Amino acid sequence: MTHRILLRAGHVLSMDPAVGDLPQGDVLIEDGKIAAVDREIGADAEVLDMTGRIVIPGFVDTHRHTWEASIRNVAPDATLDDYFVDILDTFAPLYTPEDVYAANLAGALECLNAGITTLVDWSHINNTPEHPDAAIRALTETGIRAQYAYGSANTSLADYWFESKIAIPGEDVRRVRTEYFASDGGLLTLALATRGPGFCVNDVVTSEWSLARELDIPITVHVAMGRLAGRFGMVKQLHDLGLLGPDTTYVHCCYFSEEEWRLVADSGGTVSIAPQVETQMGHGWPPVMKAIEHGLRPSLSIDVVTTVPGDMFTQIRAAFAAERARVNAASWQADVPVPDTMLTARQMLEIATRNGAHVAGLEDRTGSLTPGKRADVVAIDATALNVAPVHDAAAAVALSADVSNVETVIVDGVVRKRDGRLMADVARARRLVEESRDRLLAAKEARA
Ligand SMILES: [Zn+2]
Repeated sequence: MTHRILLRAGHVLSMDPAVGDLPQGDVLIEDGKIAAVDREIGADAEVLDMTGRIVIPGFVDTHRHTWEASIRNVAPDATLDDYFVDILDTFAPLYTPEDVYAANLAGALECLNAGITTLVDWSHINNTPEHPDAAIRALTETGIRAQYAYGSANTSLADYWFESKIAIPGEDVRRVRTEYFASDGGLLTLALATRGPGFCVNDVVTSEWSLARELDIPITVHVAMGRLAGRFGMVKQLHDLGLLGPDTTYVHCCYFSEEEWRLVADSGGTVSIAPQVETQMGHGWPPVMKAIEHGLRPSLSIDVVTTVPGDMFTQIRAAFAAERARVNAASWQADVPVPDTMLTARQMLEIATRNGAHVAGLEDRTGSLTPGKRADVVAIDATALNVAPVHDAAAAVALSADVSNVETVIVDGVVRKRDGRLMADVARARRLVEESRDRLLAAKEARA
């Protein structure tokens, strides 16, 4: 029997230009798929009243180290340089598979609670083969849509991040591909989280890129952030190695040369920007406008909850404010008007939804409320005091709403949050992630 859900009488922001906005509209979901978006739909369905709600596609976080949920806020004042020592060299080596499971469970639920329906889990915590198993199990249990990006182990900085000679174990990635990702059509898909030139020797870089291409999975890599990677000219080096391609997401991109921007754009690569981390930790200015000027469709990401909040509203505002601050200051300095390419609130919403799906390679199935796509839908309570009265629904979401206003979250047609409550064992997830915190702190003490 066909299962139908009808979202009735919401303010629908489809983020699909062909569907547009409906100040009062219905969204019909059939067997997990968006069947119709229209002013009024009659259907024999479970009805969710969306009066006073803004209905949007779920947010897409295109890069988060979900395993760090156990160590939330341990590095509040860290720079990127500190982070390598305090997190990758201190906590990462201590992680057990149980810690990864707890963090991915709590972290993915945190995403769903905040209206993030698709997550790229940049998982560079694969210290044993049981680690990826634990990460994937947790993601699966939460019902989130995720791209699991299989990364390296992290047992020491010297071994894994400075001219590393150790490649991601191809044998285990092949095992994971066969065991969990036989089809690319599921809720979970696979990618390879690589470190790239400067962090690894060229043989390792080449072998990791070949592995991804052999397995036909996308690649995600941090580039051009901070003093360190900014100097490597990583994209230029990848170009010299003949490795650039449309299957690769470049994270941060703060210190690209003009040539590197062109190389990324010409090769069809995609971009993930983590504005709160970048401004706060010294990666550089979040280059949202730069990416757009090069014809790219940038997306947003959270990166690390060790140091920044885990929701998309923060990222939208951080990028919007940082870019406008930068351009305002430069224009004031040059005594010229600001360019008409200044970011808009609506653009930010598009960047956080549809662009994210594009970057995660999932635009055929999510990122907008388009009939035929999978139903990843979020309803924002616009009757709340921090949102009402609504003049411009896109601005209300981009500039006023926060996690407390995320009332309904649907992933793949399944209601994961209803009436402001997650449909999950939140108490268990919190207990596990607190136990993980205690275990990691004790292990850190024991090692000191
Ligand atoms: Zn990152």
